Amino acid sequence: MAGPDAGLVGALAAIVGDRHVLTDEGDMEPYVSAFRYGGGRAGLVVLPADTAQVAAILRHCHGAGVRVVPQGANTGLAGASVPDGSGSQVVLSLKRLIGRFDLDRANRAVTLDAGWDLDRLNERLEADGLWFPIDISASPSVGGMISTNAGGSRVLRYGDVRHNVLGVEVVLPDGTITADLRGLRKNSAGLDLKQLFIGTGGSFGIVTGAVLNLLPRPRQTATALVVPRGGDGVGDLLALCEDRAGEFLSAFESMTGPALSAALHHRPQLRNPFGGTVPDECILVELMSATGRDSGLDLEALLLGLLEQGYETGVIVDAIPGPPADLWALRHAISEGLRGLGRVIGLDVSLPRGRMTSFRRAATDWVRTHHPDLLICGFGHRGDGGDHFNLVIPKDRDAAFPANTVSAIRQGLYRLLVEDFSGSYSAEHGIGPVNLSYHQTFADPIQQHLSRLIQTHLDPAGMLGRVRW
Ligand SMILES: Cc1cc2nc3c(=O)[nH]c(=O)nc-3n(C[C@H](O)[C@H](O)[C@H](O)COP(=O)(O)OP(=O)(O)OC[C@H]3O[C@@H](n4cnc5c(N)ncnc54)[C@H](O)[C@@H]3O)c2cc1C
Repeated sequence: MAGPDAGLVGALAAIVGDRHVLTDEGDMEPYVSAFRYGGGRAGLVVLPADTAQVAAILRHCHGAGVRVVPQGANTGLAGASVPDGSGSQVVLSLKRLIGRFDLDRANRAVTLDAGWDLDRLNERLEADGLWFPIDISASPSVGGMISTNAGGSRVLRYGDVRHNVLGVEVVLPDGTITADLRGLRKNSAGLDLKQLFIGTGGSFGIVTGAVLNLLPRPRQTATALVVPRGGDGVGDLLALCEDRAGEFLSAFESMTGPALSAALHHRPQLRNPFGGTVPDECILVELMSATGRDSGLDLEALLLGLLEQGYETGVIVDAIPGPPADLWALRHAISEGLRGLGRVIGLDVSLPRGRMTSFRRAATDWVRTHHPDLLICGFGHRGDGGDHFNLVIPKDRDAAFPANTVSAIRQGLYRLLVEDFSGSYSAEHGIGPVNLSYHQTFADPIQQHLSRLIQTHLDPAGMLGRVRW
C-alpha cells in the first residue's frame, strides 16, 4: 500500500470512527517522527479508545496482511515507535486508551489503560499519597514504559518497570486478548507470562492495560551535588552513600563536565552551583523517605553527616547541598542540552557497577583515537550501573559522520562493552531499528533463537512492531 488504502481506511474507521483514522500527511506528522532518530512514513494512523477496538484492529490487519506499529507517547529512543520509510505501515497510537483507572488502596496498586502517561498518573495519585516510582525526564505512556522496560533515575532504589508491574492485559498479533489483572505480588504457578511483553518493544503483542505497584509518596528528600576525588572516587562515594544512607539512597546520578556545561548552556536560567567552573564529573546524590521528619528521621542531617565523612576520608573534594528541584533541573536539562550541540549518538549502556570507571576510560580512549572530533558527554544512572555514554557530532562536522560511520562507531564501542566489560548495549531504552543489528551481532545466540521461536509462533508473518528478533 503506497498512501492510504481506501478499503483499509474504511474498515478501521468502522471500528474507531472516521475522526480517529488519520491519513493526512500533516495530521500524521507527530506520529511518524521519532524524538531522536528521525522517522518514516505511515499508511495511516489509527487511534482506538479501548481494548476491544485494539483487538478488532489487529484482527483486521492480521487478516489483511497489514503491518502495525504500536505507539505510546513516542518518547522512545530506539526508533521503534515510528514506521519505516515504506509508507505502508499502520501506526496504532494508544494515546486515547485512558478510560480505565481503578485504584485499589488496599493492594497499593492501580489497574489502568496503557495510554495513561507518567506525569498524569502521578498527578492523579498525589491526593492519595501514592506514586509510581519511575523517574524519567519525559512523560512516557504506561504501555511504552512496559514495552521498553523503562528505567530512569531511581532504579537503584525502586527497580525498573519490570519490578513494578503486577500484571498486564495484552492483545496478541491475531487479535486475541490475554490478561492477568489480579494484581498479585507473588505467584509461583508456572511461567510468568507478563515478562514476555516487558522490554520486547510490542513485538509479541500490544499492551492495553496493566496493574502497577504503587508506593507511599516520599515525605522528605535531601539532595547534594558531590564532586568525588578522581580515579575510582565515584565507586568509593557510592560505597560511602550505601553504607551511611542504606535504603534511603534513591538516586546516584552522574554528570560529566561536558554534559553539565551543555545543560547550563541550553538553559541559561539555570544557575551553575560551582560558580564559574564545572568539575570533570559530579554526582547528584538523593536520599528519600516516605517517613516524615516528625518521626525523628532527618535526611538532611543524614546527608550532611555523610558528606562530612566523605571530606574527612578524602572521598569527596566538593559538595553542594541544594533544593531537589534545582539540582534535578540541571540533570534533566542534559538531553536537550546535548541536542543543542549537534547530532547525538546515544549509547544506553549498563555494566557491573565496579567496572564503570574502567569502561568509561577505555571507551574515551577508543573515541579519542578513532574520532577525536566527537564530543564525549556522558551522564546517567551510575548507581545502578547505567550510563548514557553519549557522543555529540559538532554541527560543523556533521557531514563527516554519515550513517555508516556512526554505525561503525556504535559497533566498535559495543564490541568493547560486551566483550571486554560484560555490558549491555540497551540498559533501559529497549530494542529498535537503532540498535537491532548490534543485538543480532552481540546477543547470546540461544536467547535470539528462543525469541524468534516465540515471535514466529505468535506472529508468523512478522506483522507487529519494528523488531524481528
Ligand atoms: C528526554 C527523554 C529522557 C528519557 N529518559 C529516559 C530514562 O531516564 N530512562 C528510560 O528508561 N527511558 C528514558 N527515555 C526513553 C523513553 O521515555 C522510554 O523508552 C519510554 O518507556 C517510552 O515510552 P513511550 O510511551 O514514549 O513509548 P513509544 O516511544 O511510543 O514506544 C516505544 C516502544 O514501545 C512500543 N510500544 C509503545 N506502546 C506500546 C504498547 N501499548 N504496547 C506494545 N508496545 C508498545 C513501541 O512500538 C516501541 O517499540 C527518555 C526519553 C526522552 C525523550
